[in-house]
Amino acid sequence: MADCIFCKLANGEIPTKMIFENDKVACFADANPQAPVHVLVLPKCHIESADGITPENSDCVKAVFEAIPQVADKLGIKDNYRVINNCGEGAGQSVKHLHFHIVSGDETLKARLF
Ligand code: 5GP
Ligand code: ZN
Repeated sequence: MADCIFCKLANGEIPTKMIFENDKVACFADANPQAPVHVLVLPKCHIESADGITPENSDCVKAVFEAIPQVADKLGIKDNYRVINNCGEGAGQSVKHLHFHIVSGDETLKARLF
């Protein structure tokens, strides 16, 4: 999608160091890390938010979840990370391209949210 920063990063239009990549998924470091390990995993196809997931586009969301353990393995954080999605401005979503934060290494993450 034109003018979507995450589309541009995911498709290489804006160069970035990929932590993991395949034909459907991109993973790169968050520009403003909130934990010692903080990366973003996203589908290459443009979906605005979790609200935009449909049977027609869920294949790329499936690919994201299949990539997550590989990302965790690569980062050495298996069995020790949190997966976070903010859906909508009300929940703090600032970039309107579906993405999942993978965070690890912060003691405060051990506190249960739910
Ligand atoms: P949200 O608030 O939408 O859940 O998360 C957006 C995240 O994207 C934020 O943590 C922010 O630091 C990160 N971010 C915003 N713009 C860029 C960028 O151009 N490059 C990278 N690597 N991360 C970005
Ligand atoms: Zn996009």
